[in-house]
Amino acid sequence: METKYEVINQLSQKAYSKTSLSKDEIIELLSCPEEYTHLIFDVADKLRKEEVGDEVHLRGLIEFSNICKRNCEYCGLRRDNQNLLRYRLEVDEIIATAKNAESLGYRSVVMQSGEDGFYTAEKIATVVDGIKNSTDLAVTLSCGEFSKQDYKMMKNAGADRYLLRFETSNKELYQALHPDSDYENRIQCLHNLKELDYQVGSGFMVGLPGETVEILADNLLLLKELDVDMAGIGPFIPNPDTKLANEKGGLLIDSLKAVAMARLILRNAHIPATTAMGSLDPKGREKALNSGANVVMPNVSPMKFRELYALYPNKICITDDPGHCRNCITGKIHALGRSVAKDHGHSLKR
Ligand code: SF4
Repeated sequence: METKYEVINQLSQKAYSKTSLSKDEIIELLSCPEEYTHLIFDVADKLRKEEVGDEVHLRGLIEFSNICKRNCEYCGLRRDNQNLLRYRLEVDEIIATAKNAESLGYRSVVMQSGEDGFYTAEKIATVVDGIKNSTDLAVTLSCGEFSKQDYKMMKNAGADRYLLRFETSNKELYQALHPDSDYENRIQCLHNLKELDYQVGSGFMVGLPGETVEILADNLLLLKELDVDMAGIGPFIPNPDTKLANEKGGLLIDSLKAVAMARLILRNAHIPATTAMGSLDPKGREKALNSGANVVMPNVSPMKFRELYALYPNKICITDDPGHCRNCITGKIHALGRSVAKDHGHSLKR
């Protein structure tokens, strides 16, 4: 009879050698006791080095509106949250923020917002056009669900990538958490984005109430099926201004396992060490970078608005100016023996 250590070691090696894992094998690795997780993290880190190298890509995050028409149960930006002061940046403010990010050395920005009706596809396209005409930045959009026609307009304006996390692959759980959204439409949006030749990012939360390890395995398999260019995975952190305030949050160790498994399954996808991981543990992002991640998304939003983009509590870096963030994260990356990438960090799948 094999010991647990031997089982985890063999399955980790199997995943590393590019042999597809069955769902049961993925579940076995996701259920790995903490004392053996280093076996999974080590092979994921080795594979990361081989597939995407030692360079870490920085994407400057511009949170340009915290206004949202949706009511996702876990999110501090949900429309029913009356405790949040709402803001939106003007078109020229977003472009100026992007230019500032470029002057700080960023090669890529992510424009993120709630689903703010003011920012129609046309208006977002105007911003993208403004950024592309005045900088050499790659632009990722993360602004929620739109029609295929709208996504096309933004792509034609020059958007390179789109980030739309499905959060959970379990339809019942998805509907419970997203009372005014539709799972099928979410997945259709991801297919539409792929058809329009965006570099597509998706991902999920770890530790949602009602989640099981089987669902986590399905989440990873869905990322593989979608053949995503980027996979964003982070812990669920309960927000006090939501109905889920008293739920247990996701654990860093479980999120790290999911990141490592994403690396082993998705091979050369870009995988961020998410801010939520850094918010759970001061070393959370470094731990993720040592477990398969190769991207960090520092905040470059104007200082006065940072506190208001309150997806979850205790978010890190909200009092640090963009220049400080850039230096701080560069220091952390160098301390790991890695370097900051100088290119745009486009998908390696093309
Ligand atoms: S998760 Fe996104 S769509 Fe849902 S409430 Fe928050 S900002 Fe809006």
